[in-house]
Amino acid sequence: MTTICVFCGSSMGNNPLYQKAAKAVANFFVEHNIRLVYGGAKVGLMNILADTLLENNKEVIGIMPGLLVDKEVAHEGITTLIQVDSMSERKLKMVEMSDGFIALPGGFGTFDELSEVLIYNQLRVMDKPVGILNTAGYFDKMLEFFDHSVKEGFVRAEHRNNLIVSENIETLFHLMQKYSPVTMGKWIEDIKTEAHQRS
Ligand code: AMP
Repeated sequence: MTTICVFCGSSMGNNPLYQKAAKAVANFFVEHNIRLVYGGAKVGLMNILADTLLENNKEVIGIMPGLLVDKEVAHEGITTLIQVDSMSERKLKMVEMSDGFIALPGGFGTFDELSEVLIYNQLRVMDKPVGILNTAGYFDKMLEFFDHSVKEGFVRAEHRNNLIVSENIETLFHLMQKYSPVTMGKWIEDIKTEAHQRS
């Protein structure tokens, strides 16, 4: 993996550990010569990531819809800022340009981007690792809910288990390198059978 897309907060979060984690991820990218793809902003955790890489002369690619560029949140110092027409086009471009995806703590924007790449993997539109950096247990409740969804029969266990989680960027990256996609045949047949058997 030489290009990784990071989804993360446009805010800093209340716990200083979140900023520390963004910095640790950026330093890891610097050490391993990994190119960053991200939302292109100069705010929140996104800004910490981008600035740390730029200070170390590393490549940073921001992808941003025009509506956000107009709001003047774009980071003008990044290597490349790609302007797109919509939020959907932005996510497609992120998927196209990256070898893997990491979500750091964030809000709805981060959740949306994370869900998008998870469903892309599930439908085999792409086969790329998706990881969560679970700093200070930020994602614990979301992961609990995912487990609940498995229990209730709306998420397949193999898809839940294919989401890579660690508090530590070295471990996360190592696990992401070993990613293998879930084959589609079995579960798609199961949901078709279930549809035939409905009461
Ligand atoms: P959030 O987690 O809600 O703060 O949203 C952050 C995520 O959504 C990032 O990964 C961005 O790609 C995107 N995003 C949300 N707000 C902005 C913004 N002001 N500028 C750039 N990207 C944003």
